[in-house]
Amino acid sequence: MTARRHGFRLAAALSVAAMLAGCASGPQVAPQRSPLAHWSPSPNFNARKAQLIVLHHTSIGDTEAALRVLKTHNSQGPVSAHYLVEMDGRIDQLVDEGDRAWQAGASRWAGMTDLNSSSIGIEIDNDGHSPFTQAQIDALIRLLADITTRLGIPRTAIVGHGDIAPGRKDDPSVQFPWDRLASYGFGLWFDAPLTPAPPGFDTLAAMRLVGYDVSVPRDAIIAFHRHYRAMETESLDSTDAAILYSLQRKLMAPRQ
Ligand SMILES: [Zn+2]
Repeated sequence: MTARRHGFRLAAALSVAAMLAGCASGPQVAPQRSPLAHWSPSPNFNARKAQLIVLHHTSIGDTEAALRVLKTHNSQGPVSAHYLVEMDGRIDQLVDEGDRAWQAGASRWAGMTDLNSSSIGIEIDNDGHSPFTQAQIDALIRLLADITTRLGIPRTAIVGHGDIAPGRKDDPSVQFPWDRLASYGFGLWFDAPLTPAPPGFDTLAAMRLVGYDVSVPRDAIIAFHRHYRAMETESLDSTDAAILYSLQRKLMAPRQ
């Protein structure tokens, strides 16, 4: 009787501790194993990991306000990111890389959807119009070197939110220095000087090969222009074709 009562008290204490731990550690996680199966573990596995890095601007330009939003919600609902790069170059981490931050929303890239499940999100604090600070870009380049090395993400697998959600998102803005990142080997970039695309070159097919969702061509072209031309116009020209020809050749080159 005493032992049973003691056991009951212990169980009650453990369940209270579990509830408190649940409160402290954020959202409850569903059990990872099926009750229908016999657990017969294999050693041949590793943790699932991100395949892509998505860059954003906060549209805020105020660190305290940006951190507050990323821990609560914006006008659309709850949001977060794995990292925030402040204007002075300080880097905050808000979510573990192994967890799914709420940053990409409805998005599509290279045929993948649910980018929240397969990407690391980095917010860069900026008002959406002003240039990004030198300290910020320097810090971002160091952070990209760290993440790509530790997680084994290809250095070219870095895109903007606007690239994966054309027509819905426009960050980071035309002020973002993708060419500077490219000089450190980050992001997919074209070779200069450009070679003119051959006659009949299919620009939309090349955009699809790069990763863009071209189901609404106008939106995809604006996103492509924002990233590669620092402008947001709607029609493609011969320079775009030459850029896409260069990107296509890089993507189709045999791996070494
Ligand atoms: Zn964004």
